[in-house]
Amino acid sequence: MHVSAVIAAGGKGRRMNSSISKQFLNIKGRPILYYTLKKFERIDKIKSIILVVGADDIDFTREEIVKRYKFKKIKIVQGGKERQDSVYNGLRELSPQTDIVVIHDGVRPFVPVTIIEKSIAAAAKYKAVGVAVPVKDTIKVVDDNYTIKNTPDRKTLWAMQTPQSFTYDVIMRAYEKAMCDGFYGTDDTVLVERLGLTVKIIEGAYENIKITTPEDIIFAETFINLGYGHYWR
Ligand code: C5P
Repeated sequence: MHVSAVIAAGGKGRRMNSSISKQFLNIKGRPILYYTLKKFERIDKIKSIILVVGADDIDFTREEIVKRYKFKKIKIVQGGKERQDSVYNGLRELSPQTDIVVIHDGVRPFVPVTIIEKSIAAAAKYKAVGVAVPVKDTIKVVDDNYTIKNTPDRKTLWAMQTPQSFTYDVIMRAYEKAMCDGFYGTDDTVLVERLGLTVKIIEGAYENIKITTPEDIIFAETFINLGYGHYWR
């Protein structure tokens, strides 16, 4: 089985209020992206890693991440305007021999390796699988006037994370249709839902946060100190 990963790291990190993109911020002396890549690099089943970064970050990524930390499986690809454009650029670099594609956010370094492995196995069985956790808060649908419209039953609500894993055929069809229709989603599974196919969920981990806003860095430092950034976690 030929498994490839696409790591989306082409964002600018506007919500971080920082000039440096969040995936390149250092925690304990190493960039966030280093911790993320290490987990994928060490999984033997994953034969290649397509790392998608912004045009301005390509040289830095090659020198300061891939060469510096001696990553062996990585091919760097230029990202696009939205996350979906970046992932699509990455998908188009995959060999058509690929069986399973694992898509992951570069800013989620704390994903447990066991969850990546489970996601790959589940994709081989179900074709489209997202990692998610039950929401802890009550979620409201709110209109433009800050007025609550309704309250979905919390028992049915899951917060989507990555990795999201797919068979090559399914994810290519989903992306080609979305791009052709001009549809933009906020994760990858929604593009498969639009094909009318079944998408499964596997339960993720609450520590698999998406490092997005400045306070997330404080959580991230704590998680690193607890060992969650290690590639064997
Ligand atoms: O946009 P969001 O915060 O959901 O970002 C999730 C992931 O997508 C991040 O790792 C970010 O670097 C990546 N991204 C990308 N290309 C973009 C925007 C975001 O690869 N144009």
